[in-house]
Amino acid sequence: MSDSLISRIDALRQQRQAVILAHNYTVGEVQDVADFVGDSLELARRAATVEAAVIVFCGVYFMAETAKILNPKSMVLMPDTNAGCPMADMATAEAVRAKKAEHPGCAVVCYVNTTAAVKAESDICCTSGNAPAIVRSLPKDRPILFVPDRNLGSWTAEQTGRELILWDGYCPTHERILPMLVKEARRQHPQALVVAHPECPPAVRELADHLASTAGILAFCRQTDHDQFIIATEEGLLHRLRLENPGKTFYPANARMTCPNMKRASLEKILWCLEDLRGQVEVDPATAERARQAIQRMFLVVP
Ligand code: SF4
Repeated sequence: MSDSLISRIDALRQQRQAVILAHNYTVGEVQDVADFVGDSLELARRAATVEAAVIVFCGVYFMAETAKILNPKSMVLMPDTNAGCPMADMATAEAVRAKKAEHPGCAVVCYVNTTAAVKAESDICCTSGNAPAIVRSLPKDRPILFVPDRNLGSWTAEQTGRELILWDGYCPTHERILPMLVKEARRQHPQALVVAHPECPPAVRELADHLASTAGILAFCRQTDHDQFIIATEEGLLHRLRLENPGKTFYPANARMTCPNMKRASLEKILWCLEDLRGQVEVDPATAERARQAIQRMFLVVP
């Protein structure tokens, strides 16, 4: 069944001049059929430069919006437009404007995990891989409002020694990775290194041997001689870690660290959206223009 689905996707991919981009957290079979798999930053870079009539974006809505903002000429489709991000929804443009009014003159640094409307209210974007570099690029005397992830924000504050005004948002999937579960995984696998994403709460970050974005986790596990790891991020990353490192062993820090929205894309839905060109993502041009500036300022600091 899967083989015939894949050959039908391949035929339509060619016919539509389409590319399939997938986030590291999507299900394994979606990652396997994609032309490119990566984290938010890698996918944004790829979306900006790819030459394709159609981009099928397997991830969550804000990521597809970012692809459309950076590549307005391509048609951007989502296999399931209900794939949202609860953390992105914790900050609205209206609430960010109100917070800016409370802190006149502040610079707004927004994690890419935000809606296009929130990016449009921001001075500069960041990702989990470059947040400290982005914050360091801003004048030392300028207050910084960091939106929406309080965990990435507090880690960035630690890394840079800067005081940040933190939005009270969080990723429900990473928030579920409790310190007691990490300690239990360590007890069961005492030889394994704990590798965590900075979206994890501070108490989990303190237990980690290494902290990095998903691209950073992949690079670390590839490069180190160590061969056992406890991974504290969305479980979809384990698929790629295992593929890339056949001689190494990866344990999830928590059996339930799954983002249901990232699992919405499936082979069937990819096929249907290529057949009917359904699930088109649009961003209002005025919002897109302002959001693009915030994203491009990030690329100027961290090319
Ligand atoms: S893993 Fe967390 S931040 Fe990523 S899409 Fe899911 S809820 Fe949003």
